[in-house]
Amino acid sequence: MTSPAAPLHLRITPTAEWKLRSGHPWLYGDSILDQDRDGQVGELAVIYDRHNNFLAVGLFDPDSPLRVRVLVVGKPQPINEAWWRAHFNAAIQRRDGLFDAQTTGYRLLNGESDGWPGLVLDRYDSTLVVKLYTAAWIPRLAELTPLFLTVTNGQRLVLRLSRNIQPLARKQFQLSDGQILHGPPITSSQTSSQTLSNSGTFSTKFPTKFATKFPTKFPTKALGPPLTDSVIFLETGLRFEADVLRGQKTGFFLDQRENRRLVQSLSRGRRVLNAFSFSGGFSVYAARGGALATIDLDISAHALESAKRNFALNRADQAVSNCQHETVQADAFEWLKERIRPEFDLVILDPPSLAKREAERSRAIQAYGQLARQAIACLRRGGILAASSCSAHVSTPEFFEAIRQAAQKSGRSSEELQTTGHPPDHPAAIPEAKYLKCIFMRF
Ligand code: SAH
Repeated sequence: MTSPAAPLHLRITPTAEWKLRSGHPWLYGDSILDQDRDGQVGELAVIYDRHNNFLAVGLFDPDSPLRVRVLVVGKPQPINEAWWRAHFNAAIQRRDGLFDAQTTGYRLLNGESDGWPGLVLDRYDSTLVVKLYTAAWIPRLAELTPLFLTVTNGQRLVLRLSRNIQPLARKQFQLSDGQILHGPPITSSQTSSQTLSNSGTFSTKFPTKFATKFPTKFPTKALGPPLTDSVIFLETGLRFEADVLRGQKTGFFLDQRENRRLVQSLSRGRRVLNAFSFSGGFSVYAARGGALATIDLDISAHALESAKRNFALNRADQAVSNCQHETVQADAFEWLKERIRPEFDLVILDPPSLAKREAERSRAIQAYGQLARQAIACLRRGGILAASSCSAHVSTPEFFEAIRQAAQKSGRSSEELQTTGHPPDHPAAIPEAKYLKCIFMRF
């Protein structure tokens, strides 16, 4: 793609100006008063205030109502290689000290909240996964790929694309979801490094001048080859596989790490139901925490196969090998309806987003309440409910209230143990970025 020489100039409404100045990085198309020409996807748009002074610069996306994702507000800065490097290093530094060598899977860039609007970057051992929510980042990938890999010592970069941008990515850039932008195929040895991109856009020769400031080195070889076409990484010393090419999110729910840790601390001697288990992360932690037995319940056979492998990957841990592990493939809503006997000491509810749009909000709140009521009915005396929501459209107070009401309606006495939000590698700096909340209650 050839970039036009002069940047795109925009003038915007006073309301939008105020929003950008207050630090919100989104400019919608209907807030643009004036535009000096048609813009191309991914080019830089310079935004001026009503007095014609520089206000902000961001990435332009002509195909999205969210027309510009802002990178810089206030003072003009050249968006060049040095700027990207400093911007990336700032995010790396924000994670300084969060993880030791026992945790090699975590988020490095959390979109808007890290100043990288519409882009997420996760690390799974020596594999990095970049997930794009706007096509505006695509033309930057050639520049960002070597930066990400050199700063982190990464060996491989996988590209994941949100569904809505996949057709354009394929047509205009010949890129597809799950494509390896740099590095070896997943099934081969992870030690060699080669470029697989067939578009010819990505270079194997990385500029060496990028600073290599990174908390831990990648212990690639020590982990051995993956069992499937997934990559293996460590989380607080536990081994997990992540299907980085096709799996949900970037292959694993890294955002639940701190809640998994809490579950571990509450699991000794308990019988656990992990509803909406996905690849069984909560169960492996429960097992390490001394759970007697744990059931992974999910509608997806694929997820449960992964849950079995994740359990097996940690059998060397005595507590894990002592814990009985079962998987059940079923619709959790239906399955829970039938199980009204108190037979569990810990039930984890972590359903997918139940409100994808604002219009689904009140039904989602009802569904959370109903799920919680059913889960509480399965709990033995002293049993614990861990109920989590990832619906951004359901606010934290609304969700907690739904669970507290379900607890009240159960007629059992209950005690609130803890509520949690976002983990530190998944900061939520704007209201729209806040989606994760979890409440722990004992009955
Ligand atoms: N707790 C998981 C993440 C859960 S993601 C973790 O920490 O990794 C939500 C999961 O719910 C997905 O695995 C999806 O397959 C599953 N799911 C979606 N609808 C379901 C249903 N009706 N019944 C059971 N599982 C369902």
